Amino acid sequence: KEEGRNRVAYIHHSEDASLEFLKINHRIKAIKQALREDRLVLYYQPIVCLNKGEILHYEALVRLVGDDNKLLLPGEFIPVAERFGLMAEIDRWVIQAALRKLSEVPEIKIFVNLSAVSLLNKGLLVSIEEDILNSGVDPSRIGFEITETSAMKDLAVTERWLRKLQKIGCRFALDDFGIGFSSFSYLLNLSVDYIKIDGSFVKNIDNNSAHFTLVYAMNKVAHAFGKKTIAECVENESIANTLRDLKVNCGQGYYFGKPTGNLEEIRAVLW
Ligand code: C2E
Ligand code: MG
Ligand code: MG
Ligand code: MG
Repeated sequence: KEEGRNRVAYIHHSEDASLEFLKINHRIKAIKQALREDRLVLYYQPIVCLNKGEILHYEALVRLVGDDNKLLLPGEFIPVAERFGLMAEIDRWVIQAALRKLSEVPEIKIFVNLSAVSLLNKGLLVSIEEDILNSGVDPSRIGFEITETSAMKDLAVTERWLRKLQKIGCRFALDDFGIGFSSFSYLLNLSVDYIKIDGSFVKNIDNNSAHFTLVYAMNKVAHAFGKKTIAECVENESIANTLRDLKVNCGQGYYFGKPTGNLEEIRAVLW
C-alpha cells in the first residue's frame, strides 16, 4: 500500500518475513543490552509558562545509545519494547534517572511518560512509588504523562495510578489530547492536573481555522474542569502569541527549545 494503490506487486513472503524478523530481533537485543549496560539517556525539553516566559517543568524523553553510538529515538524502539515485554523496565529506568536528576538539580520539576503497557503492570506502580519515596525527592516535583488513548484502555487501572501517586503529591498530565476520539466527559473527570493539547492542532493554529477552533475549545473545556493546559509543538513565535492570547497556560516545542541531553544548556527563556 505504501507504494501506491491499484498496482500489482510480487512479494517473496519468506524473504520479507525473515528480514523483518531479523530487524526486530536486532532491536530486542539492542534494548536488552542498553538496559544491562545503562545505555539509555534522557533528553529534556522545557515546558514554559506562556504568560511569564519562565520554565516550569521539563519533559524527560528517552533515547537509546546503539553500538555505533548512534542515538535511537523512541519511535525506533518503544513499539518493539512494548510488544516484547521490555517497556516496564524502560519506564522504571526513566523514573529512576529522572529522580537522580531531581536530586542533583534542586529547583526543577520533571514530567516522565508512562506507556500503556506499563500502566497495566501493577508491580510497576508499587516499585515506582517506592522509588519516589526512597529517593527523598519531593514527589510534587515529579509528574507523569499518560496518553489519552492509554488512559482510556482501562479507566479503573488509570484511576488506581492517579489515586496512589497523587496521594503522595505527584502530578499527572493527559498527553496527546484531542487525537484519541475519547469521550470528553470520561477524560475530564479523571483527576489529572494538566491537559497536553496535541501538537498536530497546535502546529496549524495560525493557518487552519478548524484547528484554531479546536485548540480554543479544548483549552476552554480543560479550564472549566479545573485543569491547566500545555500546548505541544510550539514551533514559532507567532504560535506562541496566539496560544497566549487564547490563555493556554504553558507551551512546549522547538521555539522554546529542542530536547537536549544537557539540561544546563537550556537557558532561561526571555519572552
Ligand atoms: P510525546 O510525549 O508527545 O513527546 C513529544 C514529542 O514531540 C517528542 O518526540 C519531542 O521531541 C517532539 N517535539 C517536541 N517539540 C516539538 C516541536 O516543536 N515540533 C515537533 N514536530 N515535534 C516536537 P520524541 O522524543 O521522539 O518522543 C516521541 C514519543 O515517544 C513521545 O511523545 C512519547 O509518547 C514517547 N516517549 C518518549 N520518551 C518516553 C519514555 O521515557 N517512556 C515512554 N513510555 N514513552 C516515551
Ligand atoms: Mg509526553
Ligand atoms: Mg505528547
Ligand atoms: Mg505528541
